[in-house]
Amino acid sequence: MEGLADRLAAVRQRIACAAERAHRDPAGILLLAVTKVFPAAAILEAYDLGLRDFGENYVQEFEGKAPEVSALAGARFHLIGHLQSNKSAKAAELFQAIQTTDSAKLARRLNEAGRPLDVMIEVKLSDEEAKHGVDPAELPALITSVRACEHLKLRGLMTMPPWSEDPEAPRPVFRKLRELAAEHGLPELSMGMSNDLETAIEEGSTCVRVGTALFGRRKTP
Ligand SMILES: *Cc1c(COP(=O)(O)O)cnc(C)c1O
Repeated sequence: MEGLADRLAAVRQRIACAAERAHRDPAGILLLAVTKVFPAAAILEAYDLGLRDFGENYVQEFEGKAPEVSALAGARFHLIGHLQSNKSAKAAELFQAIQTTDSAKLARRLNEAGRPLDVMIEVKLSDEEAKHGVDPAELPALITSVRACEHLKLRGLMTMPPWSEDPEAPRPVFRKLRELAAEHGLPELSMGMSNDLETAIEEGSTCVRVGTALFGRRKTP
């Protein structure tokens, strides 16, 4: 089996090719290594290969890994899974960035933690019942609420389209997210995963969240 170093090189190559096609500088596209379900050792190995940004989905799971990784110089941990407001204080302690802010209440609770946090707003752009995120109609009000929070720095928007085998399928969703961000003067777009990162980069992604293509298939817990 090929190792993480090879898979990382392949992912970087995919990012570079997509950026070139889109006439974009690949330096403007953050590779967020999604380490959910994998042990702290996976984060350490990726860190040794030069990765600095890591995405985790569950506060409790990351709490278990944090003692082994939180002191890594320059490492940044991003929460990319749904956050319940009763876990917001713990999340603010463990993470430097929260990509899944989706309500004014959650923003208020994160702000009350009193720690500087980069945040993104998760937008729901599909009708799937299971997906989290703010309805686009409520986005302007939520942006206003987040911008009023002194400890939160609003960086941009994040979305998670319905899963599809076809990497072209999410293109309209990615495009819509880009339009919404532009409307509100937000510079960052977290969109694109292992299967569709090229499409996302062509549509302006500044952060691709990649798990499987780096670490292999996740075992279901
Ligand atoms: C798991 C996950 C990813 C990574 O997905 P892959 O298809 O494994 O690259 C990205 N974003 C979110 C929000 C996730 O939950």
